[in-house]
Amino acid sequence: MFLNPADKSFRAFLFDLDGTVVDTIDLIRESFRHASREVLGRQLPDEVLMANVGQPLMEQMEKLGAKKAGQLYDTYRRYNHAHHDELIRSYPGVEDLLKELGMRGVRLGIVTSKSRDTVKMAFHSIPVEPYFDTVVAADDTDFHKPHPQPLMLAMRRLDAALDETVYIGDSPFDIKAGQAAGIATAGVGWGIFPPQRLKELEPDFYFEKPDEILSLCPVRNV
Ligand SMILES: [Mg+2]
Repeated sequence: MFLNPADKSFRAFLFDLDGTVVDTIDLIRESFRHASREVLGRQLPDEVLMANVGQPLMEQMEKLGAKKAGQLYDTYRRYNHAHHDELIRSYPGVEDLLKELGMRGVRLGIVTSKSRDTVKMAFHSIPVEPYFDTVVAADDTDFHKPHPQPLMLAMRRLDAALDETVYIGDSPFDIKAGQAAGIATAGVGWGIFPPQRLKELEPDFYFEKPDEILSLCPVRNV
């Protein structure tokens, strides 16, 4: 159900990283294709390879080829690290959005299923880390999206209440995690998953462009 953004103003904005804040779509796709070819001896369709992006990498590999998950994981990471800086991209408008949200005085966080070492690599290439008050990576919690634990940790760190927090992401796991945490959710249309996959989960909001997110944080005339 899409709420009218004008009805609500949020004070804590939590973002997914891959496919939401940084464009790692080519990087992830090429890493999967490589691992699939090298380890399984064939290239699985992209829809299969990318079906569980947004969950921790080892879990994704277990779903692709349980017996060879360890080998898939290592091969993926070797390729991913070797090609990281050449394939990662920024999304036009995202840095301006983060800057503007910061100026409007809200708290910002990242909640990602990426491991902390690859989060560091992403921030090295796309230097947006200073905009965020906290970063929750896969290493920080026992459970991962769609479990709400990583979001609850981010809210604790930001001292943010449920009803003033929104989680913004490109994956069905992001929407499910936000719903499980009891906070507002927003799907974005510039990431890895097709709009239909997000909309069928009925996020509270859906955005086609980064600057539309500012509607959740109107400038107050005080
Ligand atoms: Mg994502």
